[in-house]
Order: sequence, then C-alpha cells, then structure tokens
Amino acid sequence: MKLKIIAIAVLAAALASCTQSCRPAGESGSRPPLEFSRMLVHWQQYVDPGYLPFVDEVQPEVVQVGFYGVDFWAFSHVPKAVKGPTASTQPVDGDLKASGQFLENLNKELHKRGIKVIGHFDVEYHVTGLIDASQGPREGFFKFYNELWDEKELGPKPVKDPLELLQRNADGSPLSVQLKGFSPWPLYHGCLNNPNWRKVLKAFLKRAIERGVDGLIANYFYSNGCMCKYCVQGFKDYLRQRYSPAELRKQFGIEDLDKHQFAEITGWYEPNAMTPLRLEGLRFSEISRKKAFDEIFIEYGRSLKPDLIVAQWLHSYQPMPNNDERLTLPAELWGKGEDYLWYCVHKAEPTLQLRYMRGAGGGRPFAICHYESVKIRVSMAELAANGGAPMTRYANFNDPESRKELLRFFRFMKQHDDVYHASTAAGECVLLHPRSQLHLGRFTDAYTAFNTVGGRLLDDHILFDVLPDDIATPDKLARYKRVFNISSLAEMKAEPYDGLSRFEAPSTVRVSASHPQKGDTWDIHFVNYNRKEPGEKEKTGFIADENPVAVSGVKGDLVSPAGFSISKIEWMTPESPEPQELRIEKAGNRVRFTAPEFLVYAVARVHLVSGETTARNGGIPSGPSIAGWNPTLGVAPTFRSADAGLKASATSQIRRVPITASQAQSSVTQTSSSADCGTCHERMVKWEIEGRTQSLQRRLRTQPVSAQLRRNH
Ligand SMILES: [Zn+2]
Repeated sequence: MKLKIIAIAVLAAALASCTQSCRPAGESGSRPPLEFSRMLVHWQQYVDPGYLPFVDEVQPEVVQVGFYGVDFWAFSHVPKAVKGPTASTQPVDGDLKASGQFLENLNKELHKRGIKVIGHFDVEYHVTGLIDASQGPREGFFKFYNELWDEKELGPKPVKDPLELLQRNADGSPLSVQLKGFSPWPLYHGCLNNPNWRKVLKAFLKRAIERGVDGLIANYFYSNGCMCKYCVQGFKDYLRQRYSPAELRKQFGIEDLDKHQFAEITGWYEPNAMTPLRLEGLRFSEISRKKAFDEIFIEYGRSLKPDLIVAQWLHSYQPMPNNDERLTLPAELWGKGEDYLWYCVHKAEPTLQLRYMRGAGGGRPFAICHYESVKIRVSMAELAANGGAPMTRYANFNDPESRKELLRFFRFMKQHDDVYHASTAAGECVLLHPRSQLHLGRFTDAYTAFNTVGGRLLDDHILFDVLPDDIATPDKLARYKRVFNISSLAEMKAEPYDGLSRFEAPSTVRVSASHPQKGDTWDIHFVNYNRKEPGEKEKTGFIADENPVAVSGVKGDLVSPAGFSISKIEWMTPESPEPQELRIEKAGNRVRFTAPEFLVYAVARVHLVSGETTARNGGIPSGPSIAGWNPTLGVAPTFRSADAGLKASATSQIRRVPITASQAQSSVTQTSSSADCGTCHERMVKWEIEGRTQSLQRRLRTQPVSAQLRRNH
C-alpha cells in the first residue's frame, strides 16, 4: 500500500510537474508564462484582403505578422518598381507613413479578435543602399536615415553618418553581400555590438510598441564575422576574462592581446574548418549577440511594455545544423528571458530537432519554419505531435486545397485544445542531446552520433523525449525508464526495450507522447510521413503534391504508467475529429490496441485511472544514472573527422575562400524557396566552394533514417 502511494505520488509529480520544473525560474518574471499552440505567420499574404477573413476562420491564438525593424525602414519608402522582390512585403507601395498606418490598423483588427500580434524585427540585415563614389550613402536604408528619419517620431539620430553603424571586414571596409531577391543594392549590415546601432534599434522598437504589437521576433540575428572596433575590443575583453596571458600564448599563439591583430572573428560554425580560436570567436559572437538582444528587447523593450513577448528567429537546417545561431551559447543564456522558440529547419524531417526544442526550452511554446508549401499536413502534424505550434509561413489561403487542410487542422487543434494547451513531453525514455560536445567543437561527430541513435529510436517507435546534456540534472532524468545518449548505439544492437511500450508500424510512422495540462490522460501521437511524390511534370508546388498514403494496421502495446491503469483509449484524427473508442486488450500492466487506418496524423487519448498497478514494471525506474555517463566517451575523443581543424595547431589559420556576388546570386536563384535566409545561402555557397558537401553527405549516409522517409520528406 505504501509502495502504491509512493508510486502514485512519483508519477503525479513526474506527469504534472514539468511546467513548474522545466521552465527556468524567473523566465517570465511576474508574468504568467506565454502559452499557445496555434499560430499563423505571414510575410507576404497579410496585405491580401483575404487575410483577416482567413484569420477569422482559422482562429489562431497568435499571429506573427508585419515588419518593424531595418527592412521596414529601408524599403517601405521605395516603390516596388525600384526595389524589385524582397524577402518581406511592405504594406503600401513606396509609402513609409501609410505602411506604418496599415500595420497599426491591422494590429487593432487582430486585437479585436483576441489574437496576440508578434511583429518581425530585422535587427541588422537590410542596411541596403549605395555608399560608393562621391555622392555618399544614398538609396534604401541610407536615404531613410539621411532624409526620412523623423526626430519627432524616432528621437534624435544616434550618429550623423550612417556608415559608422556598419559591420566591417578586417581591412575596415564595410561588410556587404548582394543577393538577388533581397535588394537591388548591396546589403550592408548594422553591428549589434555597436552602441549606436543598438540606439537605432531601440528607436525602431519603441515605434513598434506604439504601433500596437504584443511582441517582437528578432530576424536576421547574425553577426557575420564583423571586425569593427567594437567587435574586436569585445573579443579581446572576452578572451582576457577567460584566459591568462600565458594561456593565450600557449593555446592561441597570442603574445600581446592588446596589440594582437585578429584575421577574423568567426560568426558561424564551419565544419572541417574550426580552430580553437575560431571556436572562441564563435562563442564570443553568440554571447555578445545575446547581450545585445537582452539590452534591446528584454531590458529596454520591457521597460516600455512589461509584458512584451520576445523571441529570436534562428536556423537549424536538419540534419546537420551548423547554422544554429546559438550553437555554443552556454546553458544559462540559452533562450533566457525569451517567450517562445523558433527555428527554420528547411526541408528535412525535423522530429529530433522538435524534441530538442521542447526539452531545451523547458516546455515553452515553439514553432519551426520549413519553407514548405507542399507537405502542409505533415508539417502541421509533426509540430502538433511534438508540442509545437503549427503553422508557420506558407499558410497559403488562396490555394483552395491548402486552405481546406489548414482549416481542418486548426479546427481539430482548437476542438481538442485540452490535448495541446501547455502540454508536456511524456516519453518513457530520454535521449540526451550532446550540447556539451558541440561547445567543445565536436560538432560533426556528436551530431552524427545523435542522429544515428535518435534515428534508431524513431524507427523502433520508442516513446522518447530529448533533453540537452548540459541541463540534464538527475531530477529531470529520474522520471525516465531509460536514458540514451550518443554512446548508446553499441548497446542497442541487441536492444529488447524491456518494460517499454512498443508499436508495430512502418518506419514512415513516428510516435510521440504528451501529457495535458489538466486531466489524467496520456496522449500518444502518430505522424505518417508516407506519401507519393508526383512526377516532375505533374508538380503544382502546392498541397496537391503532398499525396499522403494512408497507413493501416498500426498496433500499439502500451505499458500502463506506474500507479495507474488504462481504462480506455480514444482515437481521433483531423479527418474524423470526434473521439472513437478503440477495443483494447489488457494483459498485466500492458494494453494492446489496433489503430484504425489514418492518413497523416492521429491521436490516441489514453485515459488513466489511478490506483491499479502491477509493481514489477510499474514504478518509475531511475534509469541509468547521469553520474555514470562520462561525456568524454560520448564521441570519439580524437578528432578524426570533419572537425579535425581543432586538432590542428592552435595558431593555424585556414584560408578563407572569398565569395563573389555572382556566386552568391546563382546560389539564391537555385534555392529561391528559402529566400529570406540570406546568410545561410552565403554560407552554403562557401561550403560548396570549399568542398565540404561531399564529406558531409558521406557522413549522413551512415544515418539510419529509412530511405523511403528521406525520399518522402
Ligand atoms: Zn561589429
């Protein structure tokens, strides 16, 4: 009896406490944590007269819409005929004041509907225009700054000469790129470490709040390897704090830090090209950007509007996300003070990334962007199944088929809001994400191992969550029956998964588990990625090409959570949203069922009643202790692979291959579907020039993601 009470108490705590324990203390101050599970995001179609009627039908809780940062001020006054295509659409062609008024009216309309509005805020990217020749800075952002900056509206200009605000190359010249589809002029960038640039952004932010946004998401959160005086000084101060002069000499060959001239400060992780100093440069870049974000959005923004919602629009192109803007950020700064998480993941299956976001974010809302206009159903399903909020970008309401499915899915989620609202991950096992290894520069080895173990668990249909290893405290791990990490593969060869729930399903089906905020249910989510790819000539570019192939005969064999027994299981799908009770067979503490055929997404609501349990497999096992895991054994400790640069002499400098504007342009033309991630494309081009792609592809071939899944997603 005593054992039973303890088991119930442990389970109740494990199931119910995540929202209290997973979210870092003080994250939201005195405000209740932001919660949402239905979000609409538009960069172009929000100016369409059909936008608000679509919002009325879909009824999202949050919309991300409108532009308030650099791109707004650089482009709103420029007629479309002059500027051509840009990543963001400004509301009223060539009219700065009317564009601002449009956004104010839109925010009022959305508030009337009880919807929170998050504005997009370009923090540095589109400082575009012409600066050459004798005429000085002109066009685009420079024309705005010199001629249209209204001091009554924005306060005094921080500096007279806008060139003082720009990111710099090592030779002192302004850093620039030219990208087709972004601007007719070169793109210069403001530097987030420049105090005057921060003043510019604060002026824009104040104006955004006056225009009625509830929150802002920072776009283009890059530093691009800036070598301006603020960045160089900041990097020196950072190194001085971390290393003694003797260590600087020994580890980096820096004889005199004050006089030392750096060739570069790394802005992005480059597999196969990192050195210890580059890793420090990257860490400095990420920490200093976070400090800028905190000063502008959290300290200043919330001094104006205490409940200002803030987030960062970041990138994590799967499966090897070396473009994650906070790859090396220490755990104590990662996401600190931010209300929700956002990553662009590009086209590959993001399930492991979604679970990482859920675990790393401590239960905060999150969303991803696929740049996906075809696989709409599965993009919504995978977010719903893993605790995120559909549907981000490309919710194309003018394509009738897309609209029909978007509505169907949003209505399903609203009807079953009790499944999604503030739900928490409820896997039986956990896979540790090797964040501590990434911090050491072991990116390729660590990620390859993580994807391999994670892929195996997905293919084997194990109910598992993901937690970063640097925040995986014993109390967080205690609720799991098993802990897997990047060293687990060898032990998994003959893995019987004893004591775990099992599923019979093709590897194109993924399973996950969540626990609702209220009520004793355990929700098992199924996402079916199987689809028929149309021939090249039949492709429409819209949801008509998704062609999901329904799956039947999926079987579940669930282990009752300790202290509970399973009383019934209900089945629901977006196509059949009314819960349908399934026939179940009980055997000891296991309950078996056969799932009805489903198309892309289904939820099995597992109803629990307390009090009945069989103790043998029942109690929440403590699992392998984290203390028993030696992270240095997690991946091969010698650098034999793509990150071998770190083994090279500390002072060696790997030659950078310059990128030309025409090379950058051709890349963007080829991959125009993701035309808003300029820097990612610059980097992809660099990568290919440097011949990295082949070696990465060889590495990826070792991953067990089924061929069919890869083809279909
Ligand atoms: Zn700088």
